[in-house]
Amino acid sequence: MSKPQTHAFQTEISQLLDLMINSLYSQKEIFLRELISNSSDAIDKRRFEALTDAALLNEEEELAVTITTDKEANTLTITDNGIGMSHDEVIENIGTIARSGTKKFMEAMKAGKESDDVNLIGQFGVGFYSVFMVADKVSLATRKAGTDNTVVWESDGKGEFTISEGEEQAVGTAITLHLREDEKEYLEDFRLKHIINKYSEHISLPIKMLGAEPLDEEGNPIEGAERDLETVNSGTAIWARAKNEISAEEYQSFYQGLSYDMEPPLSTLHHKVEGNLEYTSLLFIPKKAPFDLWNREAKKGIKLYVRRIFIMDEPDALLPNYLRFVKGVIDSADLPLNVSREILQSDRDIGKIKSAATKRVLDELKRLAKNEAETYLEFWNEFGQVLKEGVVEDFVNKDKLTPLLRFASTHNDDASQSVSLDEYVERMGEEQDAIYYITAESHQAAKGSPHLEMFSKKGIEVLLMSDPVDEWLVNGLMEYADKPLKSVSKGDLELTEDEKQEQEAQKEELADITGKLQEALSGSVKEVRLTNRLTESPACLVADENDPGANLERIMKAMGQDAPSSQPILELNPDHALIKALDAADENFADWAQVLFDQAALSEGAQLKDPAKYVKLVNKLLAA
Ligand code: ADP
Repeated sequence: MSKPQTHAFQTEISQLLDLMINSLYSQKEIFLRELISNSSDAIDKRRFEALTDAALLNEEEELAVTITTDKEANTLTITDNGIGMSHDEVIENIGTIARSGTKKFMEAMKAGKESDDVNLIGQFGVGFYSVFMVADKVSLATRKAGTDNTVVWESDGKGEFTISEGEEQAVGTAITLHLREDEKEYLEDFRLKHIINKYSEHISLPIKMLGAEPLDEEGNPIEGAERDLETVNSGTAIWARAKNEISAEEYQSFYQGLSYDMEPPLSTLHHKVEGNLEYTSLLFIPKKAPFDLWNREAKKGIKLYVRRIFIMDEPDALLPNYLRFVKGVIDSADLPLNVSREILQSDRDIGKIKSAATKRVLDELKRLAKNEAETYLEFWNEFGQVLKEGVVEDFVNKDKLTPLLRFASTHNDDASQSVSLDEYVERMGEEQDAIYYITAESHQAAKGSPHLEMFSKKGIEVLLMSDPVDEWLVNGLMEYADKPLKSVSKGDLELTEDEKQEQEAQKEELADITGKLQEALSGSVKEVRLTNRLTESPACLVADENDPGANLERIMKAMGQDAPSSQPILELNPDHALIKALDAADENFADWAQVLFDQAALSEGAQLKDPAKYVKLVNKLLAA
């Protein structure tokens, strides 16, 4: 047998281990959940690969996780007959390559969410290393299905691990923990059973432990008699059971296993569909957003099973991307077991399952919005931005999604997004024929924008939008209840006859000034004109009806995309003292023009290209 090779843990993993050993004190017991969950994944994988290569699984072999202890040696061993790992896979998976979640996990830990640390371990995929919370030495022996050699990995969790060749063993993985002096409780059967019951009851695989010692008729242990293995969990798939036989606690504990979320889900949707297309779906809408909600490529929350056999995770095919926060299981009775990702994408039955699942989630959200408005707003705060993607992406369900939207509004005192379009439309005045909104970089910038001045004077409500996705949302939305959506910072404003006449008169009066301003700002603005948008500010910038607008340009640039740069229109408030005082013959006129323009940009939240120059100009004019 060859000499063991020593490897160093990758730095990030070393740090992680250090953190595990030295700072995590609560609920160390979850290491067992992590190991069982890894075993369960490995068994799922073996079963799945055996669908295309029957040699990988012997018909008679029962797939299970076995837990044994040795009180003399002070060890706990978790064995599975899953897929196993090759030499290279062991090195890669355990020790050398940190998962993407490792760093994020440590950041979250350092942010000091003490009470949540245990959930974090599972969420971030750093589960295996939790063994070092209770063990001072760990050895893992594994044989990959379809191969003959055993690879042994060993470590004390302090910087290094060794890899060597092991003795022949059955396919699968055995992990032996040498327990720390003060962690001997994990040698006790009742303690282990309690943990299994708490965390792994719903793993749909048997978890086995040695049963009681066989006794003779007088109740004495029989010498040399072996203890039998007993299954200690129910091992059945919860979704396959009848709804009325499942308690809320059981649902929650299953949900926890899927999500690592300690809070109960907001909604549990369990449906058995029979008829031409048979399947069961068990979906959970969480209360809190996971850390990677923004990652559209993150692992999706729905697991696909075919007749209780796990087929794949993250199939986009089962729910649209904008519902990626929904967790759960879909188990189909009709799909072929060897279904591939490609087939899934185009399968008609899957398409039907997907639209039914989408409908169930949206109907549930509608119900919440209607009957439990406050709960719905809490949901919206967590997931609203993702749901907005749906309005643009999911044409079929657009009409279901739109009434679910909530916005901040000039009618609210705070920044909360709580106004629905229905509410807005109901409040609209007789003459108002559009739904007005403003998009800006922040709520503050939206709320403080000069574009709102006339609207607030006239008492017209404006929706305040400051999420980056809002620009796409309004483009996709266009109208609601036959009312067009209109940006307050684009195009012309509707005027009454009186207002028109007054403006005509002012136009003539100020023709000289507007002309000179346009000259001074040529290259920066498309046009200079009068407005009645403003009551307090001297000037503002507006986009032409069909131009993208400054906010969208900013967002596109921030995303590294080419933004079609369009020049804004500078609008002047003819009633403002500053405009009235402008003198076309003033020698500083060009400076005044520049300051007016920069101020208008500033007030809508833009960054000046040359702030220092602006300050200099203002100082110069102040001094004069
Ligand atoms: P995660 O399970 O979240 O990926 P872990 O740190 O727990 O993270 O495990 C790392 C990897 O090691 C797993 O993704 C898997 O590839 C492999 N692994 C762990 N335990 C087993 C096992 N019992 N059988 C086969 N592979 C395993």
